[in-house]
Amino acid sequence: MTTTAKHQILIVGGGTAGITVAARMLRKGYTDVAIIEPSNTHYYQPLWTLVGGGQATASTTKRAESSVMPKGATWIKNATSAFDPDNNSVRCADGAAYQYDVLVVCPGIQLDWNRTEGLEDALGRDGVSSNYRYDLAPRTWDFVRNLRSGTAVFTVPSGAIKCAGAPQKIAYLASDYWRKQGVLDDIDVHLVMPAPRPFGIPAIADSLDNVIADYGITVHTNSEVTSVDPASRKVAVTGIGTGGTDTMLPYDLLHAVPQQSAPDWVKSSPLSTGDAAGYVDIDKHTMQHVRYPNVFSLGDVGSSPNSKTGAAIRKQAPVVVDNIDAFLKNQPMRASYDSYSSCPIVTSSHAMLLAEFDYDLKLEPSFPLLDPTKPHRAYWYLKKYGLPFMYWNLMLKGLA
Ligand SMILES: Cc1cc2nc3c(=O)[nH]c(=O)nc-3n(C[C@H](O)[C@H](O)[C@H](O)COP(=O)(O)OP(=O)(O)OC[C@H]3O[C@@H](n4cnc5c(N)ncnc54)[C@H](O)[C@@H]3O)c2cc1C
Repeated sequence: MTTTAKHQILIVGGGTAGITVAARMLRKGYTDVAIIEPSNTHYYQPLWTLVGGGQATASTTKRAESSVMPKGATWIKNATSAFDPDNNSVRCADGAAYQYDVLVVCPGIQLDWNRTEGLEDALGRDGVSSNYRYDLAPRTWDFVRNLRSGTAVFTVPSGAIKCAGAPQKIAYLASDYWRKQGVLDDIDVHLVMPAPRPFGIPAIADSLDNVIADYGITVHTNSEVTSVDPASRKVAVTGIGTGGTDTMLPYDLLHAVPQQSAPDWVKSSPLSTGDAAGYVDIDKHTMQHVRYPNVFSLGDVGSSPNSKTGAAIRKQAPVVVDNIDAFLKNQPMRASYDSYSSCPIVTSSHAMLLAEFDYDLKLEPSFPLLDPTKPHRAYWYLKKYGLPFMYWNLMLKGLA
């Protein structure tokens, strides 16, 4: 192993979390901030839902990684493959190793397509798609707009996933489109979900129950799609927990969301929690690693039990930065993440419900004048225009 360089702040992953933390560290006056990021492209993933629903184009969701890399940051264009926290070192796929004073781990989440039998091979053709991939979100829209009758199945996987609301948002957008086309009555829409209700907060679940009833969607609660057979165009639904039932469903359109976990190389590292999901083992308030004090983590790969969203990262990043600053100055770490996350649930092509909550699922509305348990037209504009603008122009620049 050859050590090529040492950086004061080394960030693994230049996605939402990595770029935001780097920008904030530089604004705080730190000058040696490096980001290991293999991709040439940076994605604004929240808009993929609207791409699949025909409300946005895929190209508007991506920008060159070089254009979001904060001025003054060192971009190491490489893929991390292993952590050696006992030696303050990170190894990359090409064998290069980098050392650090402080490490920030944020390479995102892994999409485990292969944990649903038959799914990976079925993707992208014969009505099977997923908004969880940039290249497939436009396919979702192709399949939605071309369906005139038959059965549409939307799946929510078990376990933590990024943006837990996204699997159901596309069911609502598609149903809204089919209704506008006058074909909703000819399409049998199914939503398969592992939870007993569509949301963990009762008032929001009640509101979503109304949306579901209004579109005439059949919900399979406490259930999960466990295999896909593209030859017969059927999925196997397996009951999990009480109340779920095993059944086979035919499909003409299948929107599938894979189970998710930490990247395998994170799971097998000393930084992992060591359980099956294998996230980076951090204190849920300070975001500091529980065993390696000079390691911090945030975003989808962190073990903090918040809803995994960009909205959560917007609140986590300032905490990580303040606590790294305190750590490097040998001061007590005072910043604490209060677990804020939000889930913007698009319920039609003109309305959105903005669920904002903490670890105890207590509502924390940013706009208290709007009932947080109901869909509003204003939030839809926020989702389509306001939040993307805020992301590219403020959040990634460390300004919001
Ligand atoms: C369909 C969909 C809808 C969503 N909707 C919303 C929403 O409405 N609101 C919301 O707030 N959030 C939403 N999200 C979630 C949000 O996009 C994520 O929570 C957020 O992007 C996570 O940021 P991150 O930095 O942890 O990971 P990412 O942004 O995924 O970035 C991870 C980075 O790490 C890099 N990387 C990967 N492997 C390596 C490696 N080996 N070494 C170094 N770098 C590596 C990747 O190239 C990437 O740049 C949605 C996501 C999806 C998919």
